[in-house]
Amino acid sequence: MKKSLTEKIFIGFVSGIIFGLLLGIISIPSLYEDQIVLFLSFGGDVFLKLIKMLVVPIVFFSLINGVANLQNISSLGRIGIKSISIYITTTFLAISISLFFANLFQPGNEIDTNFEANNINVSNPPSFLEILLNIIPNNPFDSLVRGEMLQVIFFAILIGGALSSTKESKTLKKFFVDFNNIIMKVLSFVMLVAPAGIFCLIAKTFATQGLSSIIELIKYFLLVIFVLFFHASVVYLPVIKFYGNLNLKKFFSGIKEALLFSFSTSSSSATIPITLQCVKNQFSVKENIASFTIPLGATINMDGTAIMQGVATVFIANLYGIDLFFTDYVSIILTATLASIGTAGVPGVGIIMLGMVLNQVGLPLEGIAIVMGVDRFLDMLRTCVNVTGDAMVSIVINKSEKK
Ligand code: ASP
Repeated sequence: MKKSLTEKIFIGFVSGIIFGLLLGIISIPSLYEDQIVLFLSFGGDVFLKLIKMLVVPIVFFSLINGVANLQNISSLGRIGIKSISIYITTTFLAISISLFFANLFQPGNEIDTNFEANNINVSNPPSFLEILLNIIPNNPFDSLVRGEMLQVIFFAILIGGALSSTKESKTLKKFFVDFNNIIMKVLSFVMLVAPAGIFCLIAKTFATQGLSSIIELIKYFLLVIFVLFFHASVVYLPVIKFYGNLNLKKFFSGIKEALLFSFSTSSSSATIPITLQCVKNQFSVKENIASFTIPLGATINMDGTAIMQGVATVFIANLYGIDLFFTDYVSIILTATLASIGTAGVPGVGIIMLGMVLNQVGLPLEGIAIVMGVDRFLDMLRTCVNVTGDAMVSIVINKSEKK
């Protein structure tokens, strides 16, 4: 039977843990052990470099497309502004809540030896005003080359905005869409070596770090799940109950098909048709509102993804023993909120976009490999949260328009 990529990644992950632990326990001549660890490092680095290579192009092109596709914002005026504001506010809350809990529970801080962090420079953090000023690039091409994420995002939003507001830009728009598809295709090639890459990275980690890493990884995993539920209960449910005047049981039974579908596909985009049907048929959301808010939400609203990124960033900083300062948190909130706009609603993109948040605060991208092994299930759950948010906003906007 042919195994899916997800299964292969999982197998790579689990066998990496077993191999790494055995390597740490069994006594073999240290010369051999060093050679094996060296080989694992090499394999892991190949995979990491392939991922790193794609971060800037993915962010740049998907964000341009995300913004360029919002072409009917201005025609929809009020509804557009209202829904975009709610989407961005809930994402902002999601990432703030996740950073709060990640700081409270500090996943990853109980590993005795700090991971070796190559190539990071922990210089004095810039001030808040400097961060704001730094968002504007001196030279956007230089920012692309250096991978300055906020600057890249800023420039991409402007290009996307300009594309969506000029009629003559059809060919260019198509170019960006095509290029984005090509980059996604390259990503799918790179993911073919993910099982082997993850095996190497995880085996090396466990050979050198031992059991404490697993415990910390489980802590990370459970914390993301907890914050996903917390955000849904504390941010979405009160709005649905009190503003939407809806019984929660009725709400969940109304969107259950969309939830099931998003859980099994891990894709808010693929779920669009089902979410649309649910909000129209079960909650009588008007056609013009549903057909605008749901696809928009599936494109720019990723609260679940932002939550994973917040917890993962603190986890990775702890693993590498790097302190995050107030300005780093501001950067994380800004970057993750924007990353949510740029994340395509397809499986596994959120974890790649995590690279952009890590880059922004100077954390090593190696961290992605550590969380990637447990990301598949988290992706299923966070996509449910993303889709619940889309449905919630659609119902709320419908209600407010009636008023
Ligand atoms: N799978 C998520 C979605 O489609 C995106 C991600 O976080 O990877 O909403």
